[in-house]
Amino acid sequence: MAKRGAIKNSSKNYHVSPSHREGSRERKQKKIIFRTVQNINVLKQTELHVHMGGCLTWYDFLELCKDEYSKIDWTLYFESYQKAYKRKPNLLKLTKEAQSGKEKDVSAFKNLFVCGTKDAGDFHKFQAKFNLLICLFRYYTKLNRYEEVIRKIVKSHKQEGIQYIEYRMLYPMDDVNEAIRFHLMHLKVFREESDSSFTAKYIPGVPRNEVVRGTALIQKLMIENPQYADVIVGLDFCHVEEGYPPKTLRPLLQKFKYDKDCPIFKSLPIVYHVGESYYDKSIESAIRWCHEAAEMGFKRLGHCIALGLDPQIALNRKKNAHVFETVAERLDQIDYDLKNRELLVTFGIDINKKMYLQEKQKLETFARNKLLKRTYNSKRLVELRKRQQFVLDRLAKLGTVIECCPTSNLKIGGVPNVKHHPIHNLLNSKVKLVICADDPGIFDCSLSSEIDWIIKHTKYKKEDLVKRLENPFNFKL
Ligand SMILES: [Zn+2]
Repeated sequence: MAKRGAIKNSSKNYHVSPSHREGSRERKQKKIIFRTVQNINVLKQTELHVHMGGCLTWYDFLELCKDEYSKIDWTLYFESYQKAYKRKPNLLKLTKEAQSGKEKDVSAFKNLFVCGTKDAGDFHKFQAKFNLLICLFRYYTKLNRYEEVIRKIVKSHKQEGIQYIEYRMLYPMDDVNEAIRFHLMHLKVFREESDSSFTAKYIPGVPRNEVVRGTALIQKLMIENPQYADVIVGLDFCHVEEGYPPKTLRPLLQKFKYDKDCPIFKSLPIVYHVGESYYDKSIESAIRWCHEAAEMGFKRLGHCIALGLDPQIALNRKKNAHVFETVAERLDQIDYDLKNRELLVTFGIDINKKMYLQEKQKLETFARNKLLKRTYNSKRLVELRKRQQFVLDRLAKLGTVIECCPTSNLKIGGVPNVKHHPIHNLLNSKVKLVICADDPGIFDCSLSSEIDWIIKHTKYKKEDLVKRLENPFNFKL
């Protein structure tokens, strides 16, 4: 329970207005906030990247299943746990014993619940632990009691000292009406829980592998419920990253622009997970995707590990990591390099136009999905580091914000250790940066502990960090 109430509210606290649109009062307030960035607590009061499901803490989980355990269907969890860990979890015993509150029993339960250091790098283990929550969520949804779960999560953030938060939620779309009902439950609770000292906003998620259906659903939600237009502050394109280049969203964004049915949709800001999972392509392409997402006008980019993780370390993570990519990706990279040639040269990256055009001509005769093998040498690694600097510089100029989630990157982002965490390079650049917790419940962290982690593990101490990061409230949607 130590994480609760970790932040003492400072006298410099700001109040976030629950007002619906950003009016002159709110703009004025933002100015005041900007001037009052004086201590580290300011960084711990605005949370801009958390997924609702991953926010449930182990202690709230215990409380929610205390009297309900035997009625919940845990099959999904047991099956995925067996697959990931090759053994059965002793959920009933550990849950019951932890209810006693004895330190030893609580710690044993936490080992089961929290995605810890031993689970790092294995997405199946993370998914198994997440499925534990899904079983509980499904049960509460079936009973029409899911609101209790939402309120617990919100309460926990209030106790932590958060004053402004943007929650994300991706919900299955098998039943459109059910999905809308689920989103509405969040919107209602967030509206009710917001007051002069706490504001909760909502960013519905759209899975990248189903963007048309996903955006149609959110559009329906917004058209039918205009009373919540102020609570929905953006869209999150997330879920599977590999195989879904940012450019595939262009036709859809173009459609938004001229959409008469839902005019608010065309001005709804987009946040975008990118550069988090990119084993399927070269490091050049992974870096490019971050740049393309920013050029497409996405306001904040989630993770961008590809811009901060050293290329050599990225390669060492897996056999043949980033060695293969499709002809289509390579062709996109060639076009990108030719288009940005003059700027790339200023970062010491030489693009030989003649060679690129020859390569392009040859590749155009190949099937687009054919895999190409391109190995790395020291010259290419040096160039990749320059490419990272180039894109970070472009993002800084565009005003794009990177949301860095330190613990999440270590647990599920393939970052092998603290020393090589992308945060070091991101902090050293000029890019606008916010620190967030991603799935604080399942990682047993909080926004506060993430900030403390940075102070402990980077060269940025309190004052330097406050100066470097700016008030995250300035980057809200
Ligand atoms: Zn995320």
